[in-house]
Amino acid sequence: MEAGNVPDGSVHRRRSARSRGTREDRRTRGRGFGSRDSRGRAWRPRARGLAHRTGVQSRACDNDRPHRRRERRFGNRSLQDPRANPAVVADGRAFQERRLHRRHADRSARLGRSGGSGRSGGSSGLVRVVVIGGGPAGTFAAIAARKQDADAAVTLLTRERCEPYEKPPLSKAVLLGRVSPEDAPIAGPAGVAGHGVVLETSADCTAIDRTGHVVVLADGRCLPYEALVIATGSTPREIPQLPVGAPRTYYLRTEADARVLKAALAGCRDLLVVGGGLIGLEVASSGAMLGVKVTVLEVAPRILARVCDEQIGGAVHEAHARHGVDIRVGTTLLTATAQRDGRIAAVTGAGDRFVADIVVVGTGSKPDDTLAASAGLATDDGIVVDAQCRTSDRAILAAGDCVRFPGPQGLVRLENWLHAQDQGAIAGRNAAGANERYTTVPSFWSEQYDLYIQGVGWPAPGSARVHRPLGGGRVLIFDLIDGRLTYAMGINAQRDLAMARRLIERRVAVDATALADPAQPLAGMLKR
Ligand SMILES: Cc1cc2nc3c(=O)[nH]c(=O)nc-3n(C[C@H](O)[C@H](O)[C@H](O)COP(=O)(O)OP(=O)(O)OC[C@H]3O[C@@H](n4cnc5c(N)ncnc54)[C@H](O)[C@@H]3O)c2cc1C
Repeated sequence: MEAGNVPDGSVHRRRSARSRGTREDRRTRGRGFGSRDSRGRAWRPRARGLAHRTGVQSRACDNDRPHRRRERRFGNRSLQDPRANPAVVADGRAFQERRLHRRHADRSARLGRSGGSGRSGGSSGLVRVVVIGGGPAGTFAAIAARKQDADAAVTLLTRERCEPYEKPPLSKAVLLGRVSPEDAPIAGPAGVAGHGVVLETSADCTAIDRTGHVVVLADGRCLPYEALVIATGSTPREIPQLPVGAPRTYYLRTEADARVLKAALAGCRDLLVVGGGLIGLEVASSGAMLGVKVTVLEVAPRILARVCDEQIGGAVHEAHARHGVDIRVGTTLLTATAQRDGRIAAVTGAGDRFVADIVVVGTGSKPDDTLAASAGLATDDGIVVDAQCRTSDRAILAAGDCVRFPGPQGLVRLENWLHAQDQGAIAGRNAAGANERYTTVPSFWSEQYDLYIQGVGWPAPGSARVHRPLGGGRVLIFDLIDGRLTYAMGINAQRDLAMARRLIERRVAVDATALADPAQPLAGMLKR
């Protein structure tokens, strides 16, 4: 099947929040991420002490700089005080925002379950864990390392200027003006500092000295580590016709990109999107919902070809057509030039010409493994790690979009939120002394208009396909091998897909005829 090439990267994957609702999740849900530890006790931030224990060696001997920076951001109010953090969503927040915060509670509960003893063996020895990258993989790694070893000095370095935030809303709710990036801090309202982690923003790591166990920053400082986690994520694939920085050309990866694009969309009548993958189509959907005329150019014979089967891709295509989006499949972009009025004239391989106020390029992304490669770590279109997230250097672990890790059919890359956060947490715990394996049933999701598109599992070649007719524009398909579910995908079928996830995780034997019959509840199959 088409989706068989999904595991080799480029896919958003997520597990349904509802499907993850364990008893512990439900107990902690709604209490605000990070405010409780695993036993439900109020979390006492210890970041202040840590700032002096990270061993940051500065040329200017400015060792308390992280602490001062944090104080500037939070003032002298307690980190527990929601008013101390502008990211806290005020009362009367939109449903979307409430949902984001409920997810924080779920995550908090998952992180709190880590337990285990740290490498330092209690308070006898201080372990310095440095994490590079403030995306979900890095943030979860840092928090999990601190939870694994409460005495560890954990520093999270990000080249971005802000507290780590969620990326999925950037192409959807942020462009629509429903939320701001700061409404969704990954670590919850108290930020990573609330978890006892020292955050260094605008910290660009330029080199790793593996012999000296030191990370070098662009400002010349050196940070020693006992364990290092690399979570540098991925970067957009640039196309030569419209390089990054070209006039009226937008690539979407960071909150800064989203803010600039949102402003540009406000004055835009004609939007050209290059690439009919998930991010390109999410931007197209947001543009159409804002009343912009949108054209999408896709080189493949159909949209979402690497992610969805024909039926689901077709349903998404129809939804775009209903909203007036002109999708041209099998179409290459030949040239793109600025006209005298500044607008961009794009010419396709077929000779068609489109003039747009702005162009968004969504042609996929590539792993950011440059830092690792220049440090001599094994890379192969991604940093190669083992099941414990260790690189070719045992003191260095890696997680998230930037890695290639052992999957069911060999080394794979995944680019999705859930993978990044779950693998990041394992890498963080292992950096602080644990020895856990990362295994996953991947899942991705995308929201376009009123469609919630979701896939769960590992697509495998040679699987049998079963359709479960749900009606009402909802779609659900299953792939089976030897009577067991390997993959499921659907549109607006979250509840069923949550059940499908459990069937896959537990390797329950299923009957294809029953799967095809919507009168037979999937929950019943779990009990067999
Ligand atoms: C617009 C958009 C929408 C998305 N929507 C979805 C979705 O709906 N569902 C889904 O599952 N996934 C979605 N994704 C994908 C998901 O966000 C990524 O898979 C996830 O963010 C990967 O996490 P990561 O931590 O591995 O990397 P990243 O989130 O890319 O974070 C890496 C961080 O490392 C920093 N960094 C890199 N190099 C250095 C260095 N040398 N020094 C210091 N810092 C460095 C970067 O600045 C960045 O902050 C979306 C992504 C984008 C961009």
